[in-house]
Amino acid sequence: MVQGVGFRPYVYNLARRHGLAGFVLNSPRGVFIEVEGRPETVDAFLAALPAQAPPLVRIARIDTAEIRVLGETAFAIRESDARGSAFALVPPDICACDPCLADTADPANRRYDYPFTNCTNCGPRYSIILDVPYDRPMTTMAEFPMCADCRREYENPENRRFHAQPNACPVCGPRLILKTPGESASSASGTREILERVADRLLDGGIVAWKGLGGYQLACDARRPSVVEELRRRKHRSEKPFAIMVAHADVAASLCFLSDEERAILTSRERPIVLLRRHPGADLAEALSPGNPATGVMLPCTPMHDLLFRILRERCAADAALVMTSGNVSEEPIVIDNEEAEEHLAGIADCFAHHNRRIHTRVDDSVVRVVAGHTMLLRRARGYAPMPVWLGRGEAEVLACGAQQKNTLCLTRAGFAIPSQHLGDLENFETLRFFEETLERMRRLFHVTPAAVAHDLHPGYLSTQFALQKTGLRPIGVQHHHAHIASCMAEHQLDGRVIGVAWDGTGLGADGTIWGGEFLAADLAGFDRCARLRPILLAGGDAGVREPWRVARSYLLDTFGAIPATAITRNMAPAERVRIIDTMLTRRVNTIPTSSAGRLFDAVASLIGLRHSVSFEGQAAMMLEAAADASSSLPADPYEFAIAGADPAEIDLRPMIRQIVADGERRSPQAEIAARFHATLVAAIAAVCRRMRDQLNLNRVCLSGGCFQNARLLAGCLDTLRSDGFEVFSHTQVPANDGGIALGQAAIACELLRKEG
Ligand SMILES: [Zn+2]
Ligand SMILES: [Zn+2]
Repeated sequence: MVQGVGFRPYVYNLARRHGLAGFVLNSPRGVFIEVEGRPETVDAFLAALPAQAPPLVRIARIDTAEIRVLGETAFAIRESDARGSAFALVPPDICACDPCLADTADPANRRYDYPFTNCTNCGPRYSIILDVPYDRPMTTMAEFPMCADCRREYENPENRRFHAQPNACPVCGPRLILKTPGESASSASGTREILERVADRLLDGGIVAWKGLGGYQLACDARRPSVVEELRRRKHRSEKPFAIMVAHADVAASLCFLSDEERAILTSRERPIVLLRRHPGADLAEALSPGNPATGVMLPCTPMHDLLFRILRERCAADAALVMTSGNVSEEPIVIDNEEAEEHLAGIADCFAHHNRRIHTRVDDSVVRVVAGHTMLLRRARGYAPMPVWLGRGEAEVLACGAQQKNTLCLTRAGFAIPSQHLGDLENFETLRFFEETLERMRRLFHVTPAAVAHDLHPGYLSTQFALQKTGLRPIGVQHHHAHIASCMAEHQLDGRVIGVAWDGTGLGADGTIWGGEFLAADLAGFDRCARLRPILLAGGDAGVREPWRVARSYLLDTFGAIPATAITRNMAPAERVRIIDTMLTRRVNTIPTSSAGRLFDAVASLIGLRHSVSFEGQAAMMLEAAADASSSLPADPYEFAIAGADPAEIDLRPMIRQIVADGERRSPQAEIAARFHATLVAAIAAVCRRMRDQLNLNRVCLSGGCFQNARLLAGCLDTLRSDGFEVFSHTQVPANDGGIALGQAAIACELLRKEG
């Protein structure tokens, strides 16, 4: 990644420091440098080149060749070379750097209060780039010709804004536009005036839609319950947590527990939303994340956000906490156009802070969590996409369409896999359109002509239907959990076979049943299903996902042979519904077997009375994890379980269910049961891995699937397996959830095509 990240001026200054002549230019395949000088100086230059590169630069490879001496004396930065088949990696959008923020805070600086300030080291990239090579005419900044002052900076290799493509100032650059419904024209025009109006509106309890880096965000006061509840009502979002933005890390630390690692990622240039555990009694509205002790927190990522917080500080609200959530209706993609915003968010926002720089590519905020000292991506978007993953499995160009939930797609080119940003659940027309739009843009941006399309086996996924019906490409079907394991292998560049533990909510198995608690002996070419969770029946198909009590009753039936009538099993749901589901389960009508681990979490959450129905998938599991964190007795004792059979072997958790029911009747604390439940899963996973090691002589374990977003499960497995001598791999570059599926599909397809030659 050498374009748009200050690499050429770096090379220019480095060459001049070494007294070398020659030139540097952006080419469709990266950067081309020609230097001329004494051999030892050229060697020194070459050694320093990667070592001292600017922070955003990523160098995959340096190829060198000797050429004839030309007798040149000067070093120059030349025009981009647009010939040939273009391919260059594109940088993600980066938060404003400190020197740029200092410019906007200095009354003597010409960029004082200017919200679109940026430089070579910071600012928008992926969201505004139309094509490569990355030059101003290829961005949405093309419509803003630079003024004389900006151009001087842009042309001076010693200036921080040398070839900063989005370079702008108040004279020539984009500007803010305030719109209030009902008002035909905005009365406020200056930047400061507009942001003061926005700040006042927020302090008054209003809801503001404003145009961020990769899309609109909805903001309101996160400390006022009535305001947050009103946003929930208008956004039709019942319980999914809202993220907040605060001015700096110390404010975050006053509201939430903040470890050193969490502080580092919070203040990183990617500026993601970081999931943090709130201090008890933190002054935040309960409605931010109902029933969930964690809140997503982020810091300002553009000068515009920074400026808003500066104005809030001037209004004695230095510790303001603002809800900062995606500007969309319920599950639709984030809104990016001014008109689109006014249309879609009309019923939600009280006023709109637009600006006139177009966002070319929608990029939502990223969400991360720190587990066992490392960063785990839950949603990979702004700041991360479109960072590539090096596959190194031939040059095949493929498209991978991902799964259904938390969909991403992935393209490969020149040995790289390029996963898209988070696209959303492919359940509605708008998200499918976003998928198609992103595919078209990425194909253009990275100049990819796919030879094949990889897809999930589930025929009902819109991504599968798209792959099979719309692309006309050779289809390569990939089993869901195999793709999970392959994505983890691809991240860590693992070759050969591994023990793959793929635990998630739902994925179609090779046998037509629903899998989700799988142990695979896998490489990129294929897999054996060595073990699984003992399957239970899911009554009424997918509807069961919203009603954990159904799965609870299925586990009870499997464990006891009949569903016992106890204090626990009463009042799970209305009697009539319960009767219908019980009949379906006992008669095996309209049921499907599943080994899903996600459903197991649901069942246990319902059995201990934590949650009988949910408003989004994974909610019950989240609450179960939170409940376990409240337990005091550490380490928790695992419950009993058995491992039986072969091909595949089964983890039989009926002994655990018996004990949980007994504990429930004895009124043991939920926290205690939840902690012991997690400990049981860790023990069971470790036991199966040991068995597979003994039988197959494999010692590397890949942990993947949405269940490994559960910090307690992941940390427990890492710990136990490592102390058992296993080499353990988990996700750090793409999500463990279905957001990582496309990368796995791409790796598998590339391997297949490479083998075919
Ligand atoms: Zn900067
Ligand atoms: Zn200017």
